Amino acid sequence: MHTPLTITRELNVKILILGLLSAWALNAQAELKVVTTTTTLENLVQEIGQDKVDVSSLTKSNQDPHFVEAKPSYMVKLRQADLLVSVGLDLEVGWIGNVQRGAKNPTLLKGSKGFFAAGDHIEAIDIPEGKLDRAEGDVHPLGNPHFHLDPIKTISVVEALAIKLGELDSANAEFYQRRAADYAKTLKEKMKDWESRITKSQVNNVITYHKSLSYFLRRFDLDVVASIEPKPGIPPTAKHIISLIKLVKQKNVKCILNENYFETTAGERIKGVTQASLQIVPVEVQTDYFDLIESLVTAVENCGKGV
Ligand SMILES: [Zn+2]
Repeated sequence: MHTPLTITRELNVKILILGLLSAWALNAQAELKVVTTTTTLENLVQEIGQDKVDVSSLTKSNQDPHFVEAKPSYMVKLRQADLLVSVGLDLEVGWIGNVQRGAKNPTLLKGSKGFFAAGDHIEAIDIPEGKLDRAEGDVHPLGNPHFHLDPIKTISVVEALAIKLGELDSANAEFYQRRAADYAKTLKEKMKDWESRITKSQVNNVITYHKSLSYFLRRFDLDVVASIEPKPGIPPTAKHIISLIKLVKQKNVKCILNENYFETTAGERIKGVTQASLQIVPVEVQTDYFDLIESLVTAVENCGKGV
């Protein structure tokens, strides 16, 4: 039987549920739907946007973002998105155009307000000079697009991302700005530790597989002696490996950094007959950006210790 007291209680519960539901609905509406091409960009958007964004990456952390199959599921994801965040500098040139066209969401096309290319906000290195030739391999004509492994360049990306999120969601523009500023401060702070550890490691030069680590190595004053792939996108020949072995001995290279989405047989062969240590390193975020750079710094330290 309903006493007046239970009626009030029931009513209160109903009001509470209604309140929660409408708060949830408001919140759901306010969320910006962001799709990124890499897990690194996904993590950066998440750090700035927190609960105000719903972000997911098209590729996985151990996937080579140069070569990706334009899956229909990617197009479905983009159809519902407010913002597409890409690396740019033509890194995704082989596949992202098909995904964008297939999504039939014009706001995410290049030049529209729902499109962001991180590469537009940094100064690129390794811009090839003169006429490009297919024989030069899969070169990046706009410059090296792997800038995200330089924490200082990443700060520029984070700041530009905060502005973009604020443009699409002006109610939270200040929040995004504040988050980006805090993030930049923490990253700069952490840089001191990374820099001193790399100096202490006494590693001065390294070999990498692809030019994915160029910006990282440049930032931390490490020389790149050579790449395992003779030309971008072209696997090493036996002759090239022999020349690398010679170089490693000659220049006393202690460190082979082999990006985890490339094969390691060549690296293992070089390691087997030289003093160099072979480190398989991540290129994209697995947990968060700090952990990614931490893994690279630890890999250099391990080379120094001969691990
Ligand atoms: Zn590349």
